[in-house]
Amino acid sequence: MTTRRTPTLAVFKLASCDGCQLTLLNCEDELLALAGEVKVAHFLEASSAVEPGPYDLTLVEGSITTPEDAERIHTIRAASRRLVTIGACATAGGVQALRNFADVDDYRRVVYAHPEYVATLATSTPVSAHVPVDFELRGCPIDRRQLLEVITAYLAGRKPDIPGHSVCFECKRRGTVCVTVADGTPCLGPVTHAGCGALCPAYRRGCFGCFGPAATVNLPALIPLLRRDGLDEDAVGRFLHTFNAAAFDKELKP
Ligand code: SF4
Ligand code: SF4
Repeated sequence: MTTRRTPTLAVFKLASCDGCQLTLLNCEDELLALAGEVKVAHFLEASSAVEPGPYDLTLVEGSITTPEDAERIHTIRAASRRLVTIGACATAGGVQALRNFADVDDYRRVVYAHPEYVATLATSTPVSAHVPVDFELRGCPIDRRQLLEVITAYLAGRKPDIPGHSVCFECKRRGTVCVTVADGTPCLGPVTHAGCGALCPAYRRGCFGCFGPAATVNLPALIPLLRRDGLDEDAVGRFLHTFNAAAFDKELKP
C-alpha cells in the first residue's frame, strides 16, 4: 500500500504590513481542517520552526523594494512548485509604489530620521515583475474566502475559481443602490477587482480601489465620470494612486 505524501505550504513576506498573512491566520476554523491536509513548512508569522523546500504551494506577501529581496525572490521561486502572490503589495507594488512616481530620496529624507541607514530600491514592484507567478490574489488585504479557494484549488490540482469581474457586479448582486448614479459619489467600482462583496457602496461610500484592477478595465471611460462627479485632474490622480497605484497607472498607459 502506498501512503500519500502530505503537501507542503510555505508563506514568505517581503515589503508589506503583514495584513494578508493575518488573513490566513484569521481563518481559524478552516485552518484546523487545512492543517490535516497540508504541512505548514515555512510560515514565520505563525511559527519559528521552518523546513527547507521544495514547497508544493508558496504564498508570497509584499513587494520588491530592496536589492536583497530582488535576489531572495528567485530563491523562493526555485523552491516552489506553485507560487501565488497575495495582496496589493505583492500583486501591484502596494502603497509603497508611490515612490515610483517621485524621487525616492525625497521620501527617504522626509520619513526617516537617519535616511543614510535605509537601503532601498528606487521603485516598489510586484513579484511578477521578477519571477513567473502562478496566480495573483488581489486585495488590501485579501479576502479570506478567496484565499481559501486558492489554497484548496491548488491542493486539489485545479485552477482557482476567482472571477475577474468588477466590484459593480458584486454591488448589483447584493442589491446595493449605486452611489454614483444615486448620489454622484465618485466610485472606482467599475474598474476594481471583485472580492470584498462591494463593502464600501453598501455603506454609501464610493470604492477607492483597494482590490486593484479587475480583469478588464476601461479607465478612459471612467475618468470623465469622476470629473463629472467633482474630481479635478489632481484629485483623479490621487484617487487612482493609493494601494494599487502602479497597477492603475499601468492601465492608463496605451
Ligand atoms: S456604487 Fe460603485 S461599485 Fe456599486 S454599481 Fe455603482 S459604481 Fe459600481
Ligand atoms: S475600496 Fe472598493 S474594493 Fe476596497 S473594500 Fe471598498 S468597495 Fe471593496
